[in-house]
Amino acid sequence: MPERGLAQLDVALVYFDIASQQETVFTESHSAESLRDFFAQSCRAFTAWAAREAEHRSRRDDALAALAFPHPTFRTGQRALAEAVYKGAASGRCLLAQAPTGIGKTVGTVFAMLKAARPHGLDKVFYLTAKTTGRRLALDAAQLIGDTAPAAGLRVLELTARDKLCEHRDKACHGDSCPLAKGFYDRLPAARDAALEVGLLDGPALRGVALQHAVCPYYLGQNSRAGPTWWWATSTTGSTAAPCCTR
Ligand code: SF4
Repeated sequence: MPERGLAQLDVALVYFDIASQQETVFTESHSAESLRDFFAQSCRAFTAWAAREAEHRSRRDDALAALAFPHPTFRTGQRALAEAVYKGAASGRCLLAQAPTGIGKTVGTVFAMLKAARPHGLDKVFYLTAKTTGRRLALDAAQLIGDTAPAAGLRVLELTARDKLCEHRDKACHGDSCPLAKGFYDRLPAARDAALEVGLLDGPALRGVALQHAVCPYYLGQNSRAGPTWWWATSTTGSTAAPCCTR
């Protein structure tokens, strides 16, 4: 702007409705100085966040490389399952496995995925379950493994349907209707930082942090996904536990 001699600029936020092909435009006028300050402040916030995340990722990966199985021994069949999962993650292939109840599928699977994280560049593990009981098992496995390797600082997020986390079911999800949506983005950074302090962010923990910061629990969970190192347990349709990963 200074090189173009502009002291003032009109900036616009444009919402585009795909269905109706309509644009809604919000325009504001700002001085060159205020825009420069805003840009510098945004860059500072971003670089601080990026440095913190890089440090976390490095520490986590070192700890996961040394991760030990959280039980003294494997159960019958558990090691074979864990090895198959590890090889699948290492080669980027899908694995369809069937194993009887009681061999420790959840711990064996999660352990193998986390063990593969560093050597094979995995950054996130998703664990999808059909039932609430399966979700609890996945969260318990994450807790067990996290307790075994506290230095990893595993971040676990349970994704829950909006209806289950909504605090104001009679309202709509915008600031004119819901008090937890009004000013949401003003309070989000502090809420997200507080969420990062909680290793295992299941539904009740997420709700606790959200309400402490007066933000919507559901949308706090959605926005926490921006962090690069979360490990999720969620509920979906289907009948088989299905871990998958992103690199
Ligand atoms: S913003 Fe959150 S609490 Fe508010 S209505 Fe929507 S889902 Fe419910």
